[in-house]
Amino acid sequence: MSLADFCLGIQPVGEIDPVYLKIIAGSFLGELRIKSVILPCLDPPEYAFDKRRIQYNAGTMINQLEQMKFKECNKVIALVDADLFIPVFSFVLGEARIGGTSALVSFYRLQKNPGRAAKVALHEFGHLMNLDHCRHSCVMKFSKNIEQLDSIPAIYCNYCLDHIRYMISATIG
Ligand SMILES: [Zn+2]
Ligand SMILES: [Zn+2]
Repeated sequence: MSLADFCLGIQPVGEIDPVYLKIIAGSFLGELRIKSVILPCLDPPEYAFDKRRIQYNAGTMINQLEQMKFKECNKVIALVDADLFIPVFSFVLGEARIGGTSALVSFYRLQKNPGRAAKVALHEFGHLMNLDHCRHSCVMKFSKNIEQLDSIPAIYCNYCLDHIRYMISATIG
């Protein structure tokens, strides 16, 4: 078994520029040597729209994604161009539960910068692989806005990388 047996699903939600899909798939291949499949596009997440906040509820979207069956995928990163929130923050760039199956990445506040989206995707994937936030110079460092996101590297520190590799080998047995 090798890391190449692990399969990551990249799930566009609503219309997503294919450049983003390619750059995100490329960053997982480059950083972790894992391959990804681009899944058929889902409808825009109107079920998660909050009329008072005029934003989309990230928790509601994750609940929905976690209920879906993604046959050949071990984990799924969903990409959306909607402004996301969770109740304690005015907005979030992405969202994932530790050890969950599906994570969310929002392009809405990234100012059309696919490199930033790839960073958020690697960060949320780390949470799916049981990692919490990291204090080192690492993509797992918490960032609450794009200024902070720009100040962290697009790679995992050695500790987080070892952990993810271990988790991937445990997943594919
Ligand atoms: Zn985080
Ligand atoms: Zn780290």
